Amino acid sequence: MDSTGLDYTGRKVLVTAGAAGIGLAIATRFKELGAAVFVTDINQAAVDAARTAGFSAAVSDVSDEGQVRTLMGTVAAELGGLDVLVNNAGIAGPTGPIETLDAGAWKTTFDVNVHGQFYCIKHALPLLRQAEQAAIVNLSSAAGRLGMAGRSPYSASKWAVVGLTKTLAIELGEEGIRVNAICPGAVDGPRIGAVIDAKAAMLGRPVEEVSDLYHRQSSLNRLVQAEDIANMAVFLAGNLARNVNGQAMAVDGNTEKLY
Ligand code: NAD
Repeated sequence: MDSTGLDYTGRKVLVTAGAAGIGLAIATRFKELGAAVFVTDINQAAVDAARTAGFSAAVSDVSDEGQVRTLMGTVAAELGGLDVLVNNAGIAGPTGPIETLDAGAWKTTFDVNVHGQFYCIKHALPLLRQAEQAAIVNLSSAAGRLGMAGRSPYSASKWAVVGLTKTLAIELGEEGIRVNAICPGAVDGPRIGAVIDAKAAMLGRPVEEVSDLYHRQSSLNRLVQAEDIANMAVFLAGNLARNVNGQAMAVDGNTEKLY
């Protein structure tokens, strides 16, 4: 083991939706630590930019099992194996009181946030089983530990991610494959702006007021940075966390209530 426990030289990492947002921060951190990193996205322009930045990359929709199966073949061919799967892809889903929500939008939220992780784990397993120290890191949310009024499909999907994580930690733990989740609080970036706008519209309150509430959800009175999530991901996937399994790790500055 290297002295820091964070040397990823020679290790192969796949980050879904790793070409933008939190996923890009995670992919970048693994790359800085020496890993060969493959990223995916549904967005061609984001994938092109990731290739330019030195990542292996492919367009792939995690909610389509056929595309995920093909993706794992591409990863095997390009990286020569897989040690770490980071299931980062996830969408915010619709905002509104439950009786106003469209069933199709509800199902799409689960298709990406839950079924996408299922497909990726299922089809990455043959590769992960060949790795010496395989690990899976699933992105949940503070909304996967707490309720979140007006975001029921998102919250329910992120609780499902924690259930999936805890179940697979038992199923795969016997083979030495660790499975953990990260539960970020509100992360600074473009997505949180859209979420705050939608929540303000739903509540009929000024955007500035709702934005202030989102900042004050954390005991630290600030948003989380994508790099904070990346640091938790490289910890969980690595040897420093060799006895951490089935955990849902909060990175939210201590958040007890979500708005
Ligand atoms: P984001 O909305 O910025 O999206 C990042 C990328 O995901 C985009 O480039 C998009 O094209 C891609 N994507 C969307 N659907 C996809 C699909 N079906 N297949 C492949 N790629 C797809 O997301 P983010 O804010 O970086 O969030 C990343 C993860 O962290 C998600 O699982 C999210 O639920 C979770 N999370 C985010 C926050 C936050 O405040 N941003 C908080 C808690 C948890």
